[in-house]
Amino acid sequence: MAKNLDGKKFNEEIAARLKKQFENLPEKLKLAILQVGDLKESNNYIKHKVVFAEKIGILVEHKQYKEDVEEQEIISAIEEYNSDISIGGIVVQLPIPEGLNKYRIIESIDPRKDVDGITSTNINLLFNGKLGLVPATAKGVVSLLEKYGVNLVGVKAVVVGESALVGRPIALALLNKKATVTVCHTHTKNLAGETRLADVLVVAAGYPGLITASHVSRGQVVIDVGISVAGGQVLGDVDYENVKKVVGAITPVPGGVGPMTVASLFQNLLEAKNSQT
Ligand code: NAD
Repeated sequence: MAKNLDGKKFNEEIAARLKKQFENLPEKLKLAILQVGDLKESNNYIKHKVVFAEKIGILVEHKQYKEDVEEQEIISAIEEYNSDISIGGIVVQLPIPEGLNKYRIIESIDPRKDVDGITSTNINLLFNGKLGLVPATAKGVVSLLEKYGVNLVGVKAVVVGESALVGRPIALALLNKKATVTVCHTHTKNLAGETRLADVLVVAAGYPGLITASHVSRGQVVIDVGISVAGGQVLGDVDYENVKKVVGAITPVPGGVGPMTVASLFQNLLEAKNSQT
């Protein structure tokens, strides 16, 4: 039976550590979250961030705009946060409505406060294998693997999913740890043929049950990033019950990568604060 890679438990350990570290700061630090619209998924992600923040003594300033907000209003708020020393990090909760220029909004965040690691400055650092603020999900995946002592140097890592926010940053973060990385997507010809070859398989497709027992092999480490909600249930991309009978280690959904993403965001907040002083 596969080992359970418990992101929830590790999240609690990180929270306890961060609480002490943030307590050592002279003033309570704030995280700014800007949201446009009222998407259920976004509300849910923000809720998790707020709960974690409360646990570790961080204040959250959450601004929620109507869908018809002017781009400049958001940019002006971000510019104010950039120069406000009580704000340690700025999150623009994605997605935002199509009518807004996502890139102009993101690029207005001071890269030193970009705790989601999505400005071109931080993406460039990730691309070049240099130190920067790494997107929270990618950071969380690597931290969880390292926590459980999974060697990444020279191993074959397969990432399913190539989105700019999730799949690509994960692939780069694994490459920066010297894994040999293959990225699969909807045009990949023989998905099972690729995934079966992995030592570490990371799935971020948003397609419940995509990875079945026939996509995996003995001893693999499987990280399920997928989160889909159907019939009130949270589902990953991996057929957990059948896959766990084959592989060496696996993350549950919920309780795997999700809590790691939240914890990593606040680790970035601490790094960001340290780089601002
Ligand atoms: P996305 O839709 O932008 O990208 C999905 C990617 O998966 C695409 O690159 C696509 O090519 C690939 N893909 C989809 N179906 C496929 C298939 N049948 N075969 C091969 N490749 C396929 O989604 P995203 O924003 O990258 O998010 C992916 C998943 O991760 C979603 O379920 C999302 O909710 C979840 N997510 C989880 C966390 C977390 O903390 N656990 C954080 C962010 C996103």
